[in-house]
Amino acid sequence: MIQPRVKAAIALGSNLGKSQQILQRALAQLSVVDGLVLKQISSFYHTRPIGPPQPDYVNACALLETQLSPLALLHCLQTVEQAFDRLRVERWGPRTLDLDLLLWGNQIIDQPDLQVPHPRMAERGFVLVPLAEVFAEAAQDWRHPVLGVAIADLLQP
Ligand code: ATP
Ligand code: CA
Ligand code: CA
Repeated sequence: MIQPRVKAAIALGSNLGKSQQILQRALAQLSVVDGLVLKQISSFYHTRPIGPPQPDYVNACALLETQLSPLALLHCLQTVEQAFDRLRVERWGPRTLDLDLLLWGNQIIDQPDLQVPHPRMAERGFVLVPLAEVFAEAAQDWRHPVLGVAIADLLQP
């Protein structure tokens, strides 16, 4: 059965290794996944870390259209993280690659291994700034399904 395409948004981050190159290569890997089309990619932003002391990050966001279920998309993101030797040593510690699923259509998901919208996205400038950039290009009408506001309006003035 052919699944309809759903809009989804992801966040990318890296602060170990050649971060900019890692993000570019991760996007290249995602671009060849069956059932996933990359529609918009934000600029790359240099940001200060949260969590324990560690190097600055390179962050970006991307808009996708996908025929993958939310869980299948999460697993796909985790496979790409593993391709860049992502290790989980301490919470919010440094990483070669972090790929978070921010939004999957207007769905609200609250499972132990997957919460969508990403529960901490609305308080993170390093997510909201690149996300507002891709939304301004391609998804102005798409609102945060829990908060009911446009992504640009989540950014503090
Ligand atoms: P944060 O989630 O605060 O950004 P993090 O990205 O460092 O922190 P990870 O160690 O990458 O956290 O992920 C921990 C777990 O979060 C994963 O095993 C995954 O199952 C779960 N998870 C829940 N919701 C999501 C989501 N929307 N996107 C990605 N992972 C999620
Ligand atoms: Ca994260
Ligand atoms: Ca993550």
